[in-house]
Amino acid sequence: MKTAYLNGTIVTVNDANEVIHNGVLVVEEGKVTHVGSAEEFDHQSADLLVDLKGKWVLPGLVNTHSHIVMTILRGIGDDMQLKPWLETRIWPMEQQYTTETAKWSTALGLVEMLKSGTTTFSDMFNPIGIDADGVARVIGESGIRSIFSQTLFSFGTEDEQKENVRSAREFAKTWQNEFDGRLKTMAAPHSPYTCTPSMLQEAAKIAEDYHIPVHIHLSETAQEVQKNVDDYGMRPVAHLESLGVFNHPTIIAHGVHLIQEERETFAKYNVAVAHNPVSNLKLGSGIADVSAMLNNGITVGIATDSVASNNNFDMFQELRFAALLQKGAKEDSTKMPAETVLRLATKDGAKAIRIPETGSLEVGKEADFITIDPTNKSHLQPTEHVVSHLVYAASGSDVCDVYVKGKALVQNGECTTLDEEKILFEADRVYRNFKK
Ligand SMILES: [Zn+2]
Repeated sequence: MKTAYLNGTIVTVNDANEVIHNGVLVVEEGKVTHVGSAEEFDHQSADLLVDLKGKWVLPGLVNTHSHIVMTILRGIGDDMQLKPWLETRIWPMEQQYTTETAKWSTALGLVEMLKSGTTTFSDMFNPIGIDADGVARVIGESGIRSIFSQTLFSFGTEDEQKENVRSAREFAKTWQNEFDGRLKTMAAPHSPYTCTPSMLQEAAKIAEDYHIPVHIHLSETAQEVQKNVDDYGMRPVAHLESLGVFNHPTIIAHGVHLIQEERETFAKYNVAVAHNPVSNLKLGSGIADVSAMLNNGITVGIATDSVASNNNFDMFQELRFAALLQKGAKEDSTKMPAETVLRLATKDGAKAIRIPETGSLEVGKEADFITIDPTNKSHLQPTEHVVSHLVYAASGSDVCDVYVKGKALVQNGECTTLDEEKILFEADRVYRNFKK
């Protein structure tokens, strides 16, 4: 089946950052097989013609760090420091999770992600008390693309930690490349401050055994960096390097508190960064020096973190914050231009999480794309400067259609694979069962 999407403006995010007005996007067997102008395309060759009626088409957004299972914890602990927030609000609530809680919470997150244009997400979940396989099925069946991981902690008894490693290992093996390759897995030690050195090495071993990346929180706060120095006599980056973690493809979340030597270490090992601008601001962690990371050749993606620290999955909001923060922090409005930030949220994000087959609209790539209809939207007019509007004016609620592997998961703002009404009702019901 060869489907040609016609009469739209195509934001390719290819190497030349081409934006094609009156363009054609052709999709066959879930892949992009042609991108170009309408004049050079033989309309007769397509099995199905879809008139985009002036919509904008761009690669689906890639959220490089989230905690989707936590979605129903939105709003439970605003305006708190990270450590007490985790210890007194988040972790006690997570202790009460059942499989049912986890599934509806995840489904709620999926509705929000898909409807706001995210087609791929990279995620860590806390496995306490839940059937992780059930959660993986909810994600896979929604049609979204994901690289998912069960978090490792050095909490609890020795037996509990052994079980944590065993189940994380099993999860990584079972779900790698499932759902037609849309679901992949990672090894996810939570952080150097919640994992002992031996747990970090266990995680690295899982990555090695299944040829999967490592995903870890790193250098999010100044206190955590100091604690690492106090506990191990070195900063967190040197600590992970010494344990051999970076010998595996690694994505670190945050990197707010890095020194130049650490950025050079990241560049040397090709460690990628998931930048969480809103979460870092909300938790008072600071502002990551993304400009310096890019100058050092580090691959950076954009992310929301969980909605408990954001408080939404709207990647368009992250785009704007990522651009504005660098300009403000550096007192230089030329930092993080719109084209750069859009690239981080799509192609570079995909590269960061080691799924380079998505993230741009180029021949051979997976057909993961979204549309925005600027018609009758005053905040997207005049329509000439599309990339500028995507970064500085649009929001997730502007997204019209969402496709993954060429399949429509959202059409005209409505989910096609998820029962939104039921999900909102059930998520609210399971939330009310919590003891607060
Ligand atoms: Zn996180």
